[in-house]
Amino acid sequence: KAKNESANSYFYFSDDLQVEMNRRLEVGIKLRKALDENDLDVHYQPKYDVNTDTLIGVESLVRLKDGQGGFISPVHFIEYAEETGLIFRLGEQVLEKSCIAAKNWLDKGLPIKVAVNISAKQFTDTKLVDTVAEILERTQLPSRYLELEVTESALIENFDYTVSQLKLISGMGVSIALDDFGTGYSSLSYLRLFPLDVLKIDQSFVRDMLNDEQALNIVTTIIELAHSLKLQIVAEGIETLEQKDRLQELGCQIGQGYLLSKPLDIDKANKLIQSSMVEGILCP
Ligand code: C2E
Ligand code: MG
Ligand code: MG
Ligand code: MG
Repeated sequence: KAKNESANSYFYFSDDLQVEMNRRLEVGIKLRKALDENDLDVHYQPKYDVNTDTLIGVESLVRLKDGQGGFISPVHFIEYAEETGLIFRLGEQVLEKSCIAAKNWLDKGLPIKVAVNISAKQFTDTKLVDTVAEILERTQLPSRYLELEVTESALIENFDYTVSQLKLISGMGVSIALDDFGTGYSSLSYLRLFPLDVLKIDQSFVRDMLNDEQALNIVTTIIELAHSLKLQIVAEGIETLEQKDRLQELGCQIGQGYLLSKPLDIDKANKLIQSSMVEGILCP
């Protein structure tokens, strides 16, 4: 009887659902372990001034070790971390590691700004502002070398509170970038209320801009918008020279993407940054 019952209950799970549940369980175990051991990996993707090919900053991108020498992409665990509340510890650890890295570069005479992704959920944390201030203090990184990347959803949910937090963070001298711009629901009137410094054109528009007129129009419009609001503009997901050239023609200043560099582990990032300085192509 008992056997039948369990067989019956299994009947209702599709294979896909079972696979998904196992994956979730595994991600949960690995993520908790990494957090307990402060053992998340952070990779750094360079950002370049497309006019001078100067390395000007990096974006930090979290990675979870898969246990077999490889990494699990954040697309497989950020949502889980948000749902379980683990995102708060994750965010703190990534921020601290990123600030330590940028401080080390600075101490070697390599002024590299580090941009850290902050998820919408982290803005529900009443301690976010204090956490940022504490980590800057602890790592001794001057605030102008830190940028936070937020998405439109973070801004829309909990509007007033998020604005007040961003203003405090911006007031410390940390810059604020709006990530994946164009994919969310920001209205232009909202944009003006946030202390923004940078717009990042979503990579889907960059990917399609050379064979889809709509995408190209959106890219053009975002660049013009950034210029008129006096914001820096970053194009992400640049994979071809044609895309880079076109973006440059349209007035985009900063580029990021596989064409320029993939995200690098800390050792490779250190080497690249060091050699950029030697070659004199790093901004002083
Ligand atoms: P994002 O912030 O928009 O980051 C850009 C993503 O595009 C990264 O994926 C990067 O590896 C990838 N990418 C860069 N250049 C190219 C390119 O030329 N072509 C293509 N196809 N992709 C490119 P990744 O590292 O898998 O991260 C995915 C997303 O996960 C990020 O999107 C961000 O939203 C989130 N994320 C990553 N690290 C963190 C973190 O520390 N905290 C939080 N809250 N979210 C994070
Ligand atoms: Mg980002
Ligand atoms: Mg993005
Ligand atoms: Mg994205």
